[in-house]
Order: sequence, then C-alpha cells, then structure tokens
Amino acid sequence: MAILMDGKILSAERMAQLRQRVDALKAAGKPVGLAVILVGDDPASQVYVRNKGKACEELGIESETLRLPADTAQADLEALIERLNGDSRISGILVQLPLPRHLDEAAALRKIIPEKDVDGFHIENAGKLFTGQTGVVACTPKGILHMLKASGVPLSGREAVVIGRSNIVGKPVAMLLLNENCTVTLCHSRTQDLAAHTRRADILVAAVGKPRFITGDMVKPGAAVVDVGINRVDGKVVGDVDFASVEPVAGWISPVPGGVGKMTICMLMENTIEAAERR
Ligand code: NDP
Repeated sequence: MAILMDGKILSAERMAQLRQRVDALKAAGKPVGLAVILVGDDPASQVYVRNKGKACEELGIESETLRLPADTAQADLEALIERLNGDSRISGILVQLPLPRHLDEAAALRKIIPEKDVDGFHIENAGKLFTGQTGVVACTPKGILHMLKASGVPLSGREAVVIGRSNIVGKPVAMLLLNENCTVTLCHSRTQDLAAHTRRADILVAAVGKPRFITGDMVKPGAAVVDVGINRVDGKVVGDVDFASVEPVAGWISPVPGGVGKMTICMLMENTIEAAERR
C-alpha cells in the first residue's frame, strides 16, 4: 500500500509556519497583500480565485480581487497591472489564467514587475529557474517539490518522468527535479511508447489533463506518483492518475482532490509573503 502524500496535512503544516511570517511582517509595519485579476466569468477560474482569497483570509493577508469583463481590451488590462505594480500595499499580483482568447497572455504577464510576480510566470523568473538563479518559482511545481521532499521521497540520482510540457507545470517541474539531481525525462503527446518511459520512473509526475490516464500497469513498483490533473467528470473532480489501480503498485501517491491543488495555493501564499519580506 502506498504512502499518501496528503496535500491537506502538508499544506496545513506549512500554513501554520506562514502565519507566523505574516504576523512578523505586520509587526514590522510591512504590508502583505495579494491582488488577483480575473477577466471574464470562467466557472473554474471563479472557484480558484475564491480559494485563493480564502487562503489569504486564513493567514491575515490582505487580498483584493479585481474583476474585469470578458471583452476587456489589452490596454486596459495592462493599465490595471501597471497601477498595481506601483501600489505599495500590494506585494503580489496574479492574473488568473486562462485569459479570454482575444487577450495576449504572455504580454500581460510580462507587464507584472518580476518582484510582484507571485505566480512565477514572468519570463525573468522562468529564466532564473532555467539558469539556476534565485527567483520566484511557479506555485504548482514548487508545491510538488515540497510534497515530495516532505514525504521523504529520495530524489538525487533517481529517474523522474514528467508527462506534460506546459510552461506552468511540466517544464518548470522538470527543471526543479533536475536541480535536485534527478535524471529527468519530459514526455508529451508526441512521445512514442509512453508506458516504456513511465515504467522506468522512480518519480512520476502526471500533468496531462486527461482523467485517470495513468494506470497501474504503467507504474514502476514503489514509485512516487504525483497527480497534477484536475478533470471534471460527471460533476466530480478526478486526477490524471487512476488511483484505484496505481495505489497498490506505487510507494507514494498524491490524491485528487486534496493533493497538489492544496500545495499550489499554499505556495502562492508563500510567494506572496516572500515578496513582502524582500521589500
Ligand atoms: P496543458 O494542456 O497546457 O498541457 C498538457 C500536456 O499534456 C501537454 O504538454 C500535452 O502534450 C500533454 N499530453 C496531452 N495528451 C497526452 C498524451 N496522450 N500523452 C502524453 N502527453 C500528453 O495543461 P497544464 O500543464 O496547464 O495542466 C495539466 C493538468 O494539470 C490539467 O488537468 C490542469 O487542470 C492541471 N493543473 C492543476 C494545477 C493544480 O494546482 N493542481 C495547476 C495547473 C494545472 P503536447 O505539449 O504535445 O500537446
């Protein structure tokens, strides 16, 4: 039976430490605030934004959600980001993705000053991760690494296989694992014989966006399996990993819900606090 990498427990432990850091910032008279920009009315984004607001409230971080209509012009979005860049009460700015199609996501993210880019998506922060410099690390990859380390999963010298090569999950998580001295393979939709790769993995990260895509026969016995996927099936949230068939084979496994998603929000809080501490 696999050890559960329980995001609820691991994030609660971290949140307790973060609360102390928020208190210390406040005692020193340093503002700590998160501004979240939500464009349009995508239902999943609304839920994510609400959860981020709740986490801020739990820690005593000021949070502000700025809602813009779905037909917002690029110039108006960028003007709002610039205003927040100059607002001393705000330590972190987050643009909830995806943006409506007519907007240029990369251009909007570049407008956030890197010091306030708590999502770690700015090209400067991504570049720092890829060149081994200290910058803001994207929340989901950072949360995955924290989850693996806190669960005692050995990393150095191990085979890590990441499925998915997005800029927000797959690529940065591969880079973090490489920095931990894993031997990393990055798979994607054109990968041939995916199972041959996954069966070699001591650490398997699934960030595909396909419900129950990874099955027990694709997993090496004793592997640590991290499920990043959030898929809605018949009104239920399920991951990219078929928990029922993988759990008996794996050494560690993260559940969905209650796994990586919890860690992601926790790391967003940490990045916001770190941004306030740096000022
Ligand atoms: P993307 O859609 O950007 O990327 C999906 C990746 O999966 C792509 O690289 C794609 O390959 C690859 N892929 C698709 N089909 C296959 C296949 N048959 N075999 C191998 N690889 C395949 O998704 P994201 O990275 O943004 O997100 C992935 C999942 O994680 C989603 O379910 C998302 O909701 C969830 N997520 C969860 C978060 C959390 O906090 N828990 C945070 C962010 C995302 P190619 O590049 O070739 O198209």
